[in-house]
Amino acid sequence: MTNFEKFLDKNSVFKNISVLSPHYIPKILPYREKQIEEIMSYIAPTLKNQKSRNILIYGKTGTGKTCSVKKIMEEFEKIQSNARMHYLNCRVYNSKYRVLQKVMKDYWPELEKAGFGLPFIYEKLLETLKQQRYLIVVLDEIDMVKDLDDLIYTLTRANDESGTGGLSIMGISNKLSFKENLDPRSKSSLNEVEIVFQPYTTEQLQKILEQRVEEGFQHNAVKQSAVNLAAALTAQENGDARYALKLLMRAGEIADEKKKNFVDDSDVEEARKRVETDIIAETINTLPEMHKITLHAIAKLSLNGSKYARLDGMAEGFLMSGEVYEEYERCCRQLRKKPRSLRWYKEYLNDLEMLGLVITTPSSKGIRGQTTLIKLGHEPEIVYKITNTSFFC
Ligand code: ADP
Ligand code: MG
Repeated sequence: MTNFEKFLDKNSVFKNISVLSPHYIPKILPYREKQIEEIMSYIAPTLKNQKSRNILIYGKTGTGKTCSVKKIMEEFEKIQSNARMHYLNCRVYNSKYRVLQKVMKDYWPELEKAGFGLPFIYEKLLETLKQQRYLIVVLDEIDMVKDLDDLIYTLTRANDESGTGGLSIMGISNKLSFKENLDPRSKSSLNEVEIVFQPYTTEQLQKILEQRVEEGFQHNAVKQSAVNLAAALTAQENGDARYALKLLMRAGEIADEKKKNFVDDSDVEEARKRVETDIIAETINTLPEMHKITLHAIAKLSLNGSKYARLDGMAEGFLMSGEVYEEYERCCRQLRKKPRSLRWYKEYLNDLEMLGLVITTPSSKGIRGQTTLIKLGHEPEIVYKITNTSFFC
């Protein structure tokens, strides 16, 4: 046996583990046929050189919004036409400028170079539409765009100004409430059609998992009771299919580690802790540096407890905004980074709250004037470990 053979020879419950990855899109998406049909019917006119309406798709995380839209795009691209769908994840393309530049680059490669002003890019957009093109701009996680009102206004105006050609927006959001912060005008333009994705029920999750078990695991390697448990735990948690799939994948890995040739309930139980950590780590790892440092400061203080914990009106587990800022400055210095001003720090807190990583609440009037109280959205140990690894190891 060479040294390599012991790895190759390994028995595994998996047949093809990539089927369990978040990037894998299965051939059929059960329970989303209706939504997919509906969305297709709204955008189909663009394939016949007609304008289409703006669509807003929303529903909690893991309800299949992104994969449904990707599925639709696959079908859309099969048809020869003047229409095109542009998919953008707004965590990356989080401003009007970035969105416009990214979309227009596909038509005008010279825009690849930075430094073109918005008016120039806008002119290019109008020119593109004049060539009788139909653009559907898919803005996934649209709530992450900083100047969203401005972006919606600009895109809508371009559509209105173009005699021929058209541009429609397909916004996707995990946050049901994000519309409330929009200006009424952009709200009504974005919301011409609204499609809601409901969380999956236990039975639906069971079916979704069974489909992956079939494709991803060895024959009979996953006990039915383990699938049922993973589905039930997920439904009870949040109905997030991503969570269910991770649970199943981690359970498979645990079975492999234990050299078992099947996955049962105990492996799913054990997988829970790892999955929680995985999910938090994924969110944290995509954060920009200053956000990470802010979060690290909050985790560190949470572990030690607030200096003001004994003050009247301080709720359990909360920290004061001021002490967090001081800790943030200390962490920055330790990392030899220049701390940003309070204004920026508030911005970071806001973004962290949007992602569910922290919870903030205004303090009661009594506490040192009025301040903001901050608490971690997850266990401090887990968050500390993740942020610490990304900076200090
Ligand atoms: P969202 O965008 O709503 O947060 P995703 O589309 O990213 O959710 O789905 C999360 C995960 O669950 C993905 O891995 C996806 O493949 C899977 N998934 C979601 N809905 C279904 C479904 N109906 N059938 C099979 N897999 C699904
Ligand atoms: Mg998504």
